[in-house]
Amino acid sequence: MQLVLMGLPGAGKGTQGELLSEQLDVPHISTGAMFRAAIRSGGPLGAKAKEYIDRGELVPDDISIEIVKERLRQDDCARGFILDGFPRTVPQAIALDRALPELGKALDAAVNIEISEEEAVRRISERVICSQCGATYNRAHHPELDGRCAECGGPLVQRPDDTVETALHRLKVFMDQTHPVLTYYAEQGILVSVDGERPIDQVFQDIVAQLEKIREAQRRGEAAR
Ligand code: AMP
Repeated sequence: MQLVLMGLPGAGKGTQGELLSEQLDVPHISTGAMFRAAIRSGGPLGAKAKEYIDRGELVPDDISIEIVKERLRQDDCARGFILDGFPRTVPQAIALDRALPELGKALDAAVNIEISEEEAVRRISERVICSQCGATYNRAHHPELDGRCAECGGPLVQRPDDTVETALHRLKVFMDQTHPVLTYYAEQGILVSVDGERPIDQVFQDIVAQLEKIREAQRRGEAAR
């Protein structure tokens, strides 16, 4: 399956992306995580992306589109993929629609994980990230971690773009530039929305059930042909 995960910062795209990746056995591709890895490795792409990310702005479309196109050409995407945090603008969505036929693919669904702006700010302020491997945690749910990553033992820090001030700016950027992408997918008839303010497992089960319905409709469509 080919999916994109949409939603406000803090909606749970990363968490659900990981769970869905295991369930569907396709890679979970987070553009934010790719940019943060590039920043950690110290190259020119990371330096460029950091200028925008730390201010809560979007990295320019040409850069974001190129890293996604390159990633989708890799072998592990042959069976499908889950894009998390891409597309974030209508030009990115159009570029994805143009790139997929070249790879012999089409999107099955855009999954919109809905949370309120208040919940987004609360979750972002509770979020910490491993400065070594990039694993993400909600501090309130993991009091046992004591500042160290459960995966690699690296120090947990707040993302520079997760301060309240920058987070509020990111919400505005979402409403201005990313919200129109929801309309774009709704018009294509592939937008699926789930209530993201429930426990992780309930949100996951809801997404899986909705994807199953989409698959069933696709099977019926194929059988009718
Ligand atoms: P995320 O980890 O998805 O919250 O992304 C963190 C930051 O990376 C965003 O606030 C943007 O600055 C940048 N970013 C991630 N994905 C994109 C994208 N598709 N287009 C532009 N900027 C992006």
